[in-house]
Amino acid sequence: MQTLDDLFALLERAGGEQYGQEAVTQLAHALQCAQLAEQEGAAPATVVAALLHDIGHLIHEFGDDAALRGIDDRHEVSGASLLGRWFGADVTEPIRLHVDAKRWLCRAEEKYFSILSPASVRSLELQGGVFDEAGADAFIAQPHAQAAVAVRRWDDIGKIPGLATPPLAHYRPLAEAVLRAA
Ligand code: FE
Repeated sequence: MQTLDDLFALLERAGGEQYGQEAVTQLAHALQCAQLAEQEGAAPATVVAALLHDIGHLIHEFGDDAALRGIDDRHEVSGASLLGRWFGADVTEPIRLHVDAKRWLCRAEEKYFSILSPASVRSLELQGGVFDEAGADAFIAQPHAQAAVAVRRWDDIGKIPGLATPPLAHYRPLAEAVLRAA
């Protein structure tokens, strides 16, 4: 994968792939997360991060039921590293940190755990479980941790079957605008 065209083609094809155990496709999930980011007035890089946060699920070979089989696909790491070809830390870090953001939210907000889907609860354990106090403090002190927490919140709600969103092409100019300087 070399160009932004390749990246967008990968995401477009994900319109045919289920988002893990959820009731939407990977593409629908990406578009709903990006739409939520836009609606909240997030910075362009954060909108692009929301759109691309699960790209790592599309490039690994574990299948979409990895968590069911007890495998953590580490999609936040593979996704961030792939996206580093095109984008800077303002896009890649919220993505790399969006799984740890779940571990942080579970500790920081009493009610957060109760909104997690069964699939998210299952993967939480594989991802290291709820942070202890030192882990939580270290997480939130990192640059881009707040954006990662925002991405994580959109991630939790961007899975509504049939919800209307802009098409993928709507986000292409935004992605081009936040490309990292070569
Ligand atoms: Fe997601």
